[in-house]
Amino acid sequence: MKLPNYFYTYFLANFLKFQCLSHQKLTFPYKGMAAFYYYSSTSSPPPQKRPFLDGKRKKMKIIGKDSVSPDSFLFTFSIGDYTELGLPICQHLKVFSPNPTGKVPGQWNGKPTESGSEIFRKYTPISHSVASAAQLIIKVYRKDENPSFPDGGKVSQYFETLEVGDFIDVDGPVGKMTYLGKGVFLKDGKTHTFKKLALLAGGTGITPHFQLISAILEDSRDNTEMRLIYASKTEKDIFLRKEFDELEKNSNGQFKITYTIDKATKDWPHESGYINTNMIQKYMPGPSEDTLVIMCGPNAMKLQAIVPSLKELGYDFNFVWNF
Ligand SMILES: Cc1cc2nc3c(=O)[nH]c(=O)nc-3n(C[C@H](O)[C@H](O)[C@H](O)COP(=O)(O)OP(=O)(O)OC[C@H]3O[C@@H](n4cnc5c(N)ncnc54)[C@H](O)[C@@H]3O)c2cc1C
Repeated sequence: MKLPNYFYTYFLANFLKFQCLSHQKLTFPYKGMAAFYYYSSTSSPPPQKRPFLDGKRKKMKIIGKDSVSPDSFLFTFSIGDYTELGLPICQHLKVFSPNPTGKVPGQWNGKPTESGSEIFRKYTPISHSVASAAQLIIKVYRKDENPSFPDGGKVSQYFETLEVGDFIDVDGPVGKMTYLGKGVFLKDGKTHTFKKLALLAGGTGITPHFQLISAILEDSRDNTEMRLIYASKTEKDIFLRKEFDELEKNSNGQFKITYTIDKATKDWPHESGYINTNMIQKYMPGPSEDTLVIMCGPNAMKLQAIVPSLKELGYDFNFVWNF
């Protein structure tokens, strides 16, 4: 994990301050530095880390809404005068929305609707945890677009109604695991260490993978090997493609991505169709105690395509996790 510069300044200042206060004999150049840091740190304290997310429900103001594809938006949120969003790697935000009424009373897309006047969904920002603004990519599931889902998506359609200047209610961090760096995950109070990650994503389930992969590649001491299969409907539905290609190019082989799309054109150079056994065998690290599989995406993709393939290939389901 890379720390902002002021951390080093702060720790150096305190180390030198301690040296001064404990009357230890300082040598050049520490003597001069000690005086500088002691007095500067005494007169103006270093900026304190003040994370926006602290486990309590808060309002976040929308300061940008940009269309990134016919059905998705990039939202940018202000975190006010907090120093950072404060989201550990592999953790997410809860976003609250009013619970809308479907076309058929008591139902949503033909199934009993969730109760209560308010609901929430999880989202993973694509912005860095220490950035001074938070960014979410939201795919909107609109009503009347797909006969199987006449009502569309509840929270994603709520997002579409929001404009710059509006506020959303959020809570967090939430999540089933936290990545601590160098292959170490914290889950259910225990740490687990892996050398390789087999990552499987569909649709907007890509954002937690993006957060994890970016964090690992940003840490030069983290050698965890990552392989990702990313399934989308069409080429236009691939999120963050430029960013992923750049990460892969600069990773010296540490990270490799395979795209697959449902409807491929003749000149599409990657895979086509749903994620299947052959793809997993070809592109993912094989089952081993060094390998963790993490998946995120539509339930149908996970239950009908990925899980049967992983079973067939003999992966240990204690180490097949969902974001
Ligand atoms: C850890 C995590 C991180 C996530 N991060 C993101 C993120 O960064 N960005 C993001 O957009 N989503 C993200 N999601 C998904 C998000 O939580 C919601 O599931 C998504 O926004 C849909 O919620 P909804 O209320 O609009 O749909 P719901 O009302 O819950 O509908 C349920 C499902 O029905 C299906 N559906 C509904 N309408 C249609 C339609 N017209 N066509 C096809 N299928 C349809 C979709 O599969 C939809 O997910 C994440 C999920 C998880 C678990």
